[in-house]
Amino acid sequence: MSSQSAVLAVRNPRTGTADHSITISAREEVAEKAARLRANQRAWEAIGVQGRCGVMARWLGAVKARAADIGAADAVDTGGCHTSYIQGFITMGNIGGWLEDAPRAFADLAWDTMSTSMPSVRVESQVVAFPITGVISPWNAPLMLALLDAIPALFAGSAVLLKPSEVTPRVIEALFETVREVPELAAVFDYVTGAGAVGQWVIEEADTICFTGSVPTGRKVAVACAERLIPCNLELGGKDPCIVTENADLERAATAVLRGAVYATGQVCYSVERVYVHESVHDAFVAKLVEKAQAVRLNAENPRAGHIGPFTFAPQADIVMRHIEDAKARGAKVLTGGEIENIGGGLYMRPTVLTGVNHDMEIMQDETFGPCIPVMAYSDTEEAIALANDTHFGLTASVIAGDAEEAKAIGKRINAGGIFLQDTFLTFAKLRTFGSDSFGWSGYGSPRIGPESLRRFLRRKSLLTQTGDVADIQDDHHLGAGQ
Ligand code: NDP
Repeated sequence: MSSQSAVLAVRNPRTGTADHSITISAREEVAEKAARLRANQRAWEAIGVQGRCGVMARWLGAVKARAADIGAADAVDTGGCHTSYIQGFITMGNIGGWLEDAPRAFADLAWDTMSTSMPSVRVESQVVAFPITGVISPWNAPLMLALLDAIPALFAGSAVLLKPSEVTPRVIEALFETVREVPELAAVFDYVTGAGAVGQWVIEEADTICFTGSVPTGRKVAVACAERLIPCNLELGGKDPCIVTENADLERAATAVLRGAVYATGQVCYSVERVYVHESVHDAFVAKLVEKAQAVRLNAENPRAGHIGPFTFAPQADIVMRHIEDAKARGAKVLTGGEIENIGGGLYMRPTVLTGVNHDMEIMQDETFGPCIPVMAYSDTEEAIALANDTHFGLTASVIAGDAEEAKAIGKRINAGGIFLQDTFLTFAKLRTFGSDSFGWSGYGSPRIGPESLRRFLRRKSLLTQTGDVADIQDDHHLGAGQ
């Protein structure tokens, strides 16, 4: 057990300089925070969902008052993605949504009925929250992806110990200014800082884990949870395909593909990462895509202007370049973009369109997480579906066809959790109501959105009351022994 506390420099993605630092939590600090949360969680659970809604409504007010500061901190952390500036409002929407949904979700989990298999036995439910939910979150969309799990866990009655990415800690510090304004919440919601080792300590202290991040780290998290026999919910990467059919409106398709692939510099788990276009329209589609890609502006001069910002995490630029170089070495052509530009210390890349790609290339197999759009021609629908499904991942997929019915027929055959038809990037449309399961390497555990996602933080008990006579040991035929 380490008792060292060290300071870690944090890079600013726009300047490339370290202008912030965090103190790495020592093992003892993680244990102490967990113990405090565990002790306070009992009262948090005991006040019931209505009581918690009252506290969370006060927190909503505190977030509202500081929404601009939260957005500004997120923008410094990420380098200034458009959605960064509205993170305070997104958080308000998240809390407000659960204020409406949590009481109903609890009601849906309750039952009180007579058993059908033993009619004299009354069966009642009781739900019990996991005392501590550990949330381990990534550097992309750092606030949103931490709170997508933390907020419903708190509504469920869990205490939450958060370990944000060491790359983007500023926004969490801004958020906790608001948490401290609501003492009942601060008693059950805390965070620790540091890299992978601190994440592992959170797993050692928690009763259930929600992790969002890469596949290699997700595997380590799953193994650590398995060792402790605690539940593990993983939201991992993607290599999300988009199919464009010969009947598609190419203007629409190029617009949707560009947005889906390069929004937030492609640093989105459900970005379009590979595109399959019918051979008869391949060249026309590519021409439109390149034209649109070249009109995209970097936001280097002004983070609130332009379309895309710098890489949030500098090593990601190396991964993206490695994929591009590998593709070029194997015969792909870069039609536009394809280079890292260092502007004032920030690392930028313009939308990069590649053709002549195939599935031997890293850029068609591994998550790139950059503004790259590799386009491959296919000759018939069966081939397009086979190519889309030729992956270990299964987060989302898109189909843009002549009409919605044609798109749906193809989409139903793609192995992914969210299928976007006639557009890309529709994940937000699911948020309040619909959970879906990711396939393969993209996810593990229960859905994180929709009312049923609250269930991840609750254990269900059955209270079984015998309302009739107690059976004698000699008279157990009513138990269904069948003789
Ligand atoms: P990582 O897997 O590198 O890190 C995720 C979190 O895990 C960070 O807080 C990290 O800490 C921590 N961590 C690192 N090592 C360990 C360990 N051994 N045990 C416990 N925790 C550890 O992911 P990134 O931060 O690079 O995020 C990008 C990835 O996240 C992409 O693959 C992306 O697709 C995926 N993602 C998935 C989403 C989804 O909903 N499916 C949504 C968004 C992103 P630190 O950073 O401090 O080292």
